[in-house]
Amino acid sequence: MSKSKDNELRQKLDSEQYRVTQNSGTEPAFTGKYVDHKSDGTYRCVCCDAALFSSEHKYDSGSGWPSFWLPLAGDTVRTKTDESRGMERSEVVCKNCDAHLGHVFEDGPQPTGLRYCINSASLDFKDSAE
Ligand SMILES: [Zn+2]
Repeated sequence: MSKSKDNELRQKLDSEQYRVTQNSGTEPAFTGKYVDHKSDGTYRCVCCDAALFSSEHKYDSGSGWPSFWLPLAGDTVRTKTDESRGMERSEVVCKNCDAHLGHVFEDGPQPTGLRYCINSASLDFKDSAE
């Protein structure tokens, strides 16, 4: 990332948002502002405003993080293999700006069987009524 882009993000994001999205951080379970959030609308990337997830696909996984079983469109996020912490997991990043969002697991509900476990700090919710 360029220096000016980094400065821009530091101004735009609070320290937790910056840590999670730029340093692949994870917010503590049950602390994020969107864990129990149930309004209708779209969850956007906190860094670049790309629409990532819809409230339609949000569900209560009990994990302590906002969970979705489908990204808004399959091509708005991409996954890469994360082998940190001694286990292989699939990291989810914003396809547009590479911000770290969370991880995807294969124990979600049908029809996808996927659980996108996403940090609230990576998301910016826009109500569909706005
Ligand atoms: Zn982004």
